[in-house]
Amino acid sequence: MLKIENLQVAVGDKPILKGLDLTVPAGEVHAIMGPNGAGKSTLSYALGGRPGYEVTGGTVEFDGEDLLDMDPHERAAAGLFLGFQYPVEIPGVSMLQFLRESLNAQRRERGEEELSGADFIKRAREQANALGLPADMLKRPVNVGFSGGEKKRAEMVQMGIMQPKFAVLDETDSGLDIDALKAVGEGINRIMRDPQKGVLLITHYQRLLDYVKPDRVHILSAGKIVKSGDADLALELERDGYAEVLA
Ligand code: ADP
Ligand code: MG
Ligand code: MG
Repeated sequence: MLKIENLQVAVGDKPILKGLDLTVPAGEVHAIMGPNGAGKSTLSYALGGRPGYEVTGGTVEFDGEDLLDMDPHERAAAGLFLGFQYPVEIPGVSMLQFLRESLNAQRRERGEEELSGADFIKRAREQANALGLPADMLKRPVNVGFSGGEKKRAEMVQMGIMQPKFAVLDETDSGLDIDALKAVGEGINRIMRDPQKGVLLITHYQRLLDYVKPDRVHILSAGKIVKSGDADLALELERDGYAEVLA
């Protein structure tokens, strides 16, 4: 479903990703772990098409299409969802407005009809309930004054509403308490565990992987995947650290 070959990405003149290879088949959850500064967030930005992250080589195929040839909004409409390490705040725009406009923009791009207001509200309420987020919070401005846990639950609500084919989630577990971690893990499983969908879960720690069991674990170091294994690799890393596992 996602096939990355020899991906090279530079920020400014500085090469960050240096020939990254990674394939995630439909129906699988893959985790990427790696030390600070390895290029994990750069990978998610490059997949999203963020300006400033220049692809200088390699290919990315998403669901049979050339992902790198698409604009960011086309990537989203094609079913790619990105969860960011640092969610943006949008004062003056409520969660409901933001989510409804995001969803309808994608539907228009795909040539589908917009969802009616009533259907949208119903869907938004269901997702908020499932994530343990009071539905009233959806009336507040996007992420403004949200706690770390609320931001991540809100991101899962967004994912539940968008129903993407593939999610790249960057440190979705950072700063979460145990209850939020569990809710987010359950959200990922409920929304994305499907034979037609795939997930790339970027994480520093193994604890989210207790809830979302990965099919494969990859270690990203200095801009490349340097080691891959099954879920046990994450446990090994937690126990022994990067230096020892990569030695
Ligand atoms: P990780 O997410 O694995 O911690 P990042 O992808 O955030 O790593 O960063 C990888 C490297 O790229 C770091 O050395 C970082 O300083 C650099 N980098 C990433 N984004 C930028 C940017 N916008 N400007 C300058 N350097 C950047
Ligand atoms: Mg980091
Ligand atoms: Mg990062």
